[in-house]
Amino acid sequence: MNTLSLSSRAGLLKPSPTLGITAKANAMKAEGIDVIGFGAGEPDFPTPEPIVRAAIDALEKGFTKYTPSAGIKELREAIAAKLLRENGLSYTPDQIVTSCGAKHSVYNTMQVLLDAGDEVILIAPYWMTYADQIRLAGGVPVVIHTTGDANFVPTYDQLKAAVTPRTKAIVVNSPSNPSGAVLPRQTLKEIATLALRHGLWIVADEIYERLVYGGATAPSIGSLGNDVFEQTITINGCSKTYSMTGWRIGYAAAPLPVAKAMSNLQDQVTSGPTTFAQKGAIEAYNLPNEAVEGMRAEFESRRDLIVGLLRQIPGIKVPEPQGAFYVFPDVSAYLGNDLATDDDLASYLLTEAKVAVVPGSVFEGNGHIRLSYATSRKDIERGVARIAEALGRRTA
Ligand code: PMP
Repeated sequence: MNTLSLSSRAGLLKPSPTLGITAKANAMKAEGIDVIGFGAGEPDFPTPEPIVRAAIDALEKGFTKYTPSAGIKELREAIAAKLLRENGLSYTPDQIVTSCGAKHSVYNTMQVLLDAGDEVILIAPYWMTYADQIRLAGGVPVVIHTTGDANFVPTYDQLKAAVTPRTKAIVVNSPSNPSGAVLPRQTLKEIATLALRHGLWIVADEIYERLVYGGATAPSIGSLGNDVFEQTITINGCSKTYSMTGWRIGYAAAPLPVAKAMSNLQDQVTSGPTTFAQKGAIEAYNLPNEAVEGMRAEFESRRDLIVGLLRQIPGIKVPEPQGAFYVFPDVSAYLGNDLATDDDLASYLLTEAKVAVVPGSVFEGNGHIRLSYATSRKDIERGVARIAEALGRRTA
């Protein structure tokens, strides 16, 4: 019988909690309330001028028509050159599929890799989009939990115990959203060992790779050896490195059959990403390092500022993030009674301190909150002072 119901797949969909909190904070701002936002997952810098100029030129020259679904060759060549130069990864342009953002590439990856019931290992706290996209593809997230005391690094035993005969893939996100943790080379090797032994795909989301601090490096897991490379899908994009979140340009680089399947999927779903945005992205990948270094250095000094200020609040544990632009303090000392969960605490901070943070449970990092320091130093100082004041009214 025909009924006006939605698919069970649609029932899996819920609004992105991080975008939701930003929207709520913006609505309060629109009412004239002075809200300080630590919710945003995007750099607060303008897109570098040469990139903007390249896109304007492209528009003026009439680059306004469809491109191949995987993106224009010139862009895929620029990405291949970047992956070789910066990551030690030797992809040909036809192994690269550009997309409407790294998020889109993660979606494509799950769609082309997973059958119903296939398991994908996630290391918590993790970016919640992975779990939702795995479920949308019929897969099952299998979660390993890590702690701030262990710098959010899983042990080999934990990794090993998560593998079952149904495991199809493992997601590696280093530097991590939400913890800012960078996985040590040794952990990447352990993941690679398991992937090779059990025939697992490695989905490496490297979107924050250039935002690393204190001399940390975030190696590409696919560069650990030819055999690992053959089982790795490397995902990245322009959003975070070049402050291009709204341009919607990302990519996946993968073994040819995987890349072909993703390109076929895009043929039927999105076609290629916006033509003149692709022209801007070519410019981004050809920019000298200094263009990115200024933003990275600014994030590093904000990281030091926010970590130092948060550590002055009694009872909060603040692991030092080594990358991305998030800090993920443990606030469990403040939970209990009327503020039972990190969700309650985040609501309390929004109403009482007029500060927007993301509850850690969104990322299966219960007892934590996530603060993005992609905001001005002044707001970091004012915002953390407000948090300290609001928490000071409660006992840790
Ligand atoms: N991966 C991670 C871990 C992210 O945090 C984000 C952005 N929040 C993305 C991917 C998505 O990036 P894009 O804008 O390229 O879709």
